[in-house]
Amino acid sequence: NEFLVGIEDNESEVQRQEIDGYNFFRVSVPIISENEKLGTLVLHWPTDKLDAEIGKIIRFGIIVFIIIILILGSILYYAYRKNKSNIQIAYYDEYTGLRNNKYLSDYLEKVLRNPRKRNKAIFLLNFKSFKTLEMTYGFSYGNEILKKIANKIRKTLDSDEVLFRIDGNRFVVVLDNYDDQKELNRLVEKLIRSFEIPIKQGPELQYADVQVAIVEIQDRHTSPDKVLQEAILTLSHIKDSLVNQVAFFNEDMQKSLQRQDKIIRVLRKVIDGEDTESFYLEFQPMLDLTKNKIIGFEALARLRIEKLGQIGPDEFIALAEEKLLINELGNHIILLACEFLKKIQDEGFNEITVAVNISGIQLLREDFVKNLHQNLLLSDKVRNSMEFEITESVLLDHYSQVNETLEEIKKMGIAISLDDFGTGFSSFSRLAELNIDTVKIDKFFIDKISDTTERELIISDIISMAHKIGLSVVAEGVEDEQQKSYLKKYGCDIIQGYLLSKPLPEESAISFLRRYEE
Ligand code: C2E
Ligand code: CA
Ligand code: CA
Repeated sequence: NEFLVGIEDNESEVQRQEIDGYNFFRVSVPIISENEKLGTLVLHWPTDKLDAEIGKIIRFGIIVFIIIILILGSILYYAYRKNKSNIQIAYYDEYTGLRNNKYLSDYLEKVLRNPRKRNKAIFLLNFKSFKTLEMTYGFSYGNEILKKIANKIRKTLDSDEVLFRIDGNRFVVVLDNYDDQKELNRLVEKLIRSFEIPIKQGPELQYADVQVAIVEIQDRHTSPDKVLQEAILTLSHIKDSLVNQVAFFNEDMQKSLQRQDKIIRVLRKVIDGEDTESFYLEFQPMLDLTKNKIIGFEALARLRIEKLGQIGPDEFIALAEEKLLINELGNHIILLACEFLKKIQDEGFNEITVAVNISGIQLLREDFVKNLHQNLLLSDKVRNSMEFEITESVLLDHYSQVNETLEEIKKMGIAISLDDFGTGFSSFSRLAELNIDTVKIDKFFIDKISDTTERELIISDIISMAHKIGLSVVAEGVEDEQQKSYLKKYGCDIIQGYLLSKPLPEESAISFLRRYEE
C-alpha cells in the first residue's frame, strides 16, 4: 500500500552523530499525513566520504594560498631589496659606507631649514697626501686606507656629529648645536692629533695629513651649495699656505676670490679684443750712463678696473699664469710694445729699444718662437729694437731648453736681458754659455748702495765679471744720485729707476724722450 505522506521540511533536523566511533549525519524528518504526524523518518548517512572530499578541497585551498603568498612575498622582497640598493648607491659611499655628497646636500638643506637657533658648522677635511699615496700604491690600496681614515674620523667624533665622504680624499663633518668656536677648535685639535698616529696598511705605515676648513653656518647661507663653496674656498687657502692645517672661513677670502674672478674676466676680454681700455702699457726710460742718452724703455703692463682701481702686474700676471692666460696675454703685450716701437720709430727715434717682460711659462711653450714668427709678424726694424727680459727662475729647472729657445729668439734679432739678476741662482760659469746680452741687477742690490760701505758692496764685482763675459749691465730701481754716481764709477752701462723717471703712459714717454734729446 502506498501512503501519501507529507514531509514538514521546516521541522526536519540534520545532526552529526557518532555511533560506535563512526560519524554519521542523522537526518530526522517528521512524516505527516492528513495533518497528522505519523512518525519521524530517521536517516543515517556516513560522513567519511564527504569529509574526505572537504579535506581535499581545504588542502588544495591552503596550497594555493601559500603559493600566492610566496609569490607576492618574493615580489615585495625583491622590490624592497632593489630599492634599498638604489638608496645605498645614491646616498652612500661604496668604499667607506659613509653618506655621500648627495646625502650631504639633502642633509644640509634640512639643517638650513631648521628654524631652531642653534650653532651649526661644517668641517671640510682634506687628506693632502692621499693622491700621492694612490699614485704610489694604487687604487685598491688607497681605498683600504680610505676606510681606515673614515674609521678614525668616526671614532674621533661624537655621536651627534654627522660624517660624509664627498669625493676622493675629502670628508665633511656637520656639527649641529655646538657652543662656541672654542669647541670647534677642540674638536679639530682632536681630529688632527688622531692623524698624527700613522695608519698601518700592509707592511707600511702611512701618514694621512689632514687639513680642515671650517665654515660656521649663518644667515647668509641660503643653500647647501653656498656652505660647501665657502668650505672649498677656505680649503684652497690652507693648501696655499703650507703652514696652516686649519682655517675658518672669512669674508676676505670671498672678496679676494671675487676680485680674482673679476680680473680674469677683464683679462679674457682684453685678450679677445673686446676691452681696449682697461689694459695698457707704461714705459720706463733707461739711461745710458756713458753717452748720457736715453737708449730705451721697459714696457710694464698695467691694468685698471672700475671699482677695483689699479691692479699691480705682480698680481694679475701671476693670475694670468695660474689661469693659463699668460701666453695669449703675453702675445698681446708684445703686440702693444711693437705698436709703441713703431710709433717712436715713425717719430724718428730709430735707436730706441723697448724691453718686454716675458714670463717663464711663455718661454717654456714649445710654440713660443714659432708663434713670434707667424702671428706677431714683427718687421725687421721692430725686431732689432726689441728686447725680452727673462728671469733667472725659469733657468733653474729648464736650463738647456730655455737656452735653445733664447738662441732662436736672438737669431730673430731680439736681444735678451736677464732680469732680477742676483736674486736667483745663476752662477757666472753658466752665465757665459747663456744666450743673453744683458744682466739687470736687481733693485735689492741697488738699495744697499745707500747704506753699505763701498768696500762691502758686490755690485762692482758683478759689473766687472759681467763685462768680462761680454754682457752689458743695467741697474734697476735707481732712486738717488748717490746710487747713480756709484754705478757710474764702477762702469755700469745703463740705469733705470725713479731717479730718472717712473714708468710713463705712452704719450708722456714720447714727450720725455723728446725733452731728453733736446
Ligand atoms: P720688474 O720686471 O722687475 O719690473 C720693475 C718693477 O720695479 C716695476 O714694477 C717698476 O715700476 C718698478 N720700479 C722701477 N723703478 C723703480 C724705482 O726706482 N723704485 C721702485 N721702488 N720701483 C721701481 P711693476 O710695474 O709693478 O712690475 C712688477 C713686476 O711685474 C715686474 O718686475 C715684472 O716681473 C712684472 N711685470 C710687469 N709687466 C709685465 C709684463 O708685461 N709681462 C710680464 N710677464 N711681467 C710683467
Ligand atoms: Ca723687468
Ligand atoms: Ca726686475
